[in-house]
Amino acid sequence: MVRLVQKFGGTSVADIDRIRTAAGRVADAVAAGNEVAVVVSAMAGTTDRLVEWTREIAPVHDAREYDVVVSSGEQATVGLMALALQAAGVDARSWLGWQVPILTDDVHGRARIGEIDPDELLRRMAQGQVPVVAGFQGLSAARRITTLGRGGSDTSAVALAAALGADRCDIFTDVDGIYTTDPRIVAKARKLEKVTFEEMLEMASQGARVLQTRSVELAMNHGVELQVLSSFVDAPGTFVVNEDEDVEQQVVSGIAYTRDEAKITIVGVPDRPGIAAGIFGPLAETSINVDLIVQNVSADGQQTDITFTVAQADYDRALGMIEAARDKIGFSRVEGDPEVVKISVIGIGMRSHAGVAQKMFNALAEKGINIQVISTSEIKVSVLLAEEYTELALRALHTAYGLDDGENA
Ligand code: ADP
Ligand code: ASP
Ligand code: MG
Repeated sequence: MVRLVQKFGGTSVADIDRIRTAAGRVADAVAAGNEVAVVVSAMAGTTDRLVEWTREIAPVHDAREYDVVVSSGEQATVGLMALALQAAGVDARSWLGWQVPILTDDVHGRARIGEIDPDELLRRMAQGQVPVVAGFQGLSAARRITTLGRGGSDTSAVALAAALGADRCDIFTDVDGIYTTDPRIVAKARKLEKVTFEEMLEMASQGARVLQTRSVELAMNHGVELQVLSSFVDAPGTFVVNEDEDVEQQVVSGIAYTRDEAKITIVGVPDRPGIAAGIFGPLAETSINVDLIVQNVSADGQQTDITFTVAQADYDRALGMIEAARDKIGFSRVEGDPEVVKISVIGIGMRSHAGVAQKMFNALAEKGINIQVISTSEIKVSVLLAEEYTELALRALHTAYGLDDGENA
């Protein structure tokens, strides 16, 4: 007997037919003698609509009430999935986050899961009942509903798998595995049989939304076996594995992108100690995360320019804060550009191979694409480009690194 957690994302439960199809996958796993717990997301598009409604009512809102609203999509799908399973002859019941309970901290909108007491679920699973657990939501110590950040059902599923001591966590979605890059943008993207936790962590944090970053981190830390596969096609997907289990070992294994960043440049900043702290301190205090930062060397030793990126959602607020601090910092002007994309090439092989960044710069230069900011870490190189070049750059890089389907690089 194998104990499984099966998670179905938004497109996999987008309508009643698809919920029935997903329930069929669960019923098959139960019939094969497995103990199964299910995690579901809201129907595709539902969470977006709920988020929009909270913004319409109040652009700046109480995050606790935001969580009450946006978590509601999953309430409908757990009930519908339980009904579909019952109709298929499977004993099932729904569980909202607070009923399990899935305890989290109180950082509303992006809470982290602390503890899940698995005893009651395990007892019922041993009797053949399938718990259908709402993804994305939890309960704070103050007994308020929390949510885990967009895409958070992946994290609910992995956390549940860890708590239940599951043998595997299957993430069913609308693609049949993890690809070298987003297959919806690059037709030649190649499906990976395996990818290492470390690479997947970078891919996710650099924008590949197929798995939420936190879910990869949790799986890595708790040794949860993780597979991403299609809910529509019955075939093995991609396994996320430890480094020693990955045989492919390419220098670059994936390319991720995010349009979710905006660029801010402060021109004519006095070049003296304390200025960077003066700019980034207030941003950090209001929980605005800064990603890329470049500061030019000043030609005259007097003034310099500082460029950095923030999440789109924080763009207006960050610009406002910088403007408000103009007198204190003493710069000449601030420029903003939300129309940028960050593209990152990722691979653990970079640790031992030189020339990865150079290949990226050449490939972009050949297409006449200007690089605005560059940043590197041990296993990734990121560049910031004008957003209009997203597709062109992704395809050119995919080819340059020999990742195109059909090639044996
Ligand atoms: P779900 O609703 O099932 O959670 P998501 O939309 O969150 O699904 O994630 C699946 C999507 O992730 C795919 O449709 C695909 O467009 C996108 N994606 C981005 N990068 C990759 C990648 N490297 N491999 C596979 N899918 C990717
Ligand atoms: N429904 C939530 C979202 O759209 C959680 C998820 O789908 O993983 O972000
Ligand atoms: Mg998702």
